[in-house]
Amino acid sequence: MTYRAEYIWIDGAVPTPELRSKTKIVDHDEPPPIWGFDGSSTNQATGDNSDVVIHPVFTCPDPIRGGDNILVLCETLLTADLSPHPTNKRAEALAVYEKYADQLPIFGLEQEYTLLDVSTRWPAGFPPAGFPAPQGPYYCAVGAGKIFGRELIEEHTEACILAGLGIAGTNAEVMPGQWEFQVGPLDTVAVADHLWMARYLLYRLAEKHGIVVTIEPKPMLGDWNGAGMHTNMSTKAMREGYEPIIAACEALGVAGKPEEHLTGYGAGIEFRLTGEHETQRYDQYSYGVSDRGASVRIPWQVAKDGKGYIEDRRPNANADPYVVTSLITRTVCEALVGL
Ligand code: ADP
Ligand code: MN
Ligand code: MN
Ligand code: MN
Repeated sequence: MTYRAEYIWIDGAVPTPELRSKTKIVDHDEPPPIWGFDGSSTNQATGDNSDVVIHPVFTCPDPIRGGDNILVLCETLLTADLSPHPTNKRAEALAVYEKYADQLPIFGLEQEYTLLDVSTRWPAGFPPAGFPAPQGPYYCAVGAGKIFGRELIEEHTEACILAGLGIAGTNAEVMPGQWEFQVGPLDTVAVADHLWMARYLLYRLAEKHGIVVTIEPKPMLGDWNGAGMHTNMSTKAMREGYEPIIAACEALGVAGKPEEHLTGYGAGIEFRLTGEHETQRYDQYSYGVSDRGASVRIPWQVAKDGKGYIEDRRPNANADPYVVTSLITRTVCEALVGL
């Protein structure tokens, strides 16, 4: 007897890394072993030294194949000494997490994305070569003419639950054909593992619908919302009091920090963070209660309870969650030591 292991890894595409995967048939009494791939085909190696190692770091049931089949998320390693490949951002996330694990940092990620027709590359709900009625009726809507692609969204939610991923909810977004799912709260590394797996399942399920899922941050120019990956975060201290909530917001605004964070928040961020469409401008930093025009929002319930979490609204939909959670864990937890 055998099972199928779908090995999934993150490639070296510039500026936005993408998912790759391939199938291994494994003997039923063996765990999925270390494996390799041709890095010269993924922008991760040269042809004369092409092998890159994939090392399983997180597995879950494969909800599409069912049975004993599994999905295997891998990190990439160099063949020379099995050290992390330069494109392996998980290794850094794990190091930062281990340094500050005693503060119990947790994250909830809101992944926004857009459905595109595979042949026209125009968003679902946009008439061929034309535009739909302006934004307003689409967010959290119900009904034909306002909702496009719900069948795929339902399949994806069910697949994530069957796989045991920490999906927390879904909603239709402000632009037609735009949707969101949330993952978490989970720790610095696990939330990113689960998010990458959930992205994989979404792309995979969309194949049979002839739908391209894009995490482009600004798929339509003009008066159409962009797509973000709002990042909700707390530590134990923040879940217990308000002073650490404010300290975290201040830490993210210390001179130099906004620029440092934006470099890791996804390619093309200045096109999305315009100051319009529920964003703060990319060159300004602000925080505020209930403020969806701020860089960082303190939810009203958190202000009312005097404890909880903060929402960094800046990360793009196309950000690497390992990079985003590493940056926030380091900046916030460094500032909260001893608080
Ligand atoms: P929004 O109102 O911004 O659309 P969502 O409901 O989409 O908010 O997402 C909020 C996210 O915050 C969820 O993923 C949830 O799991 C996460 N969250 C809730 N409490 C905490 C917490 N204490 N720390 C970190 N994340 C949290
Ligand atoms: Mn949301
Ligand atoms: Mn949203
Ligand atoms: Mn949000």
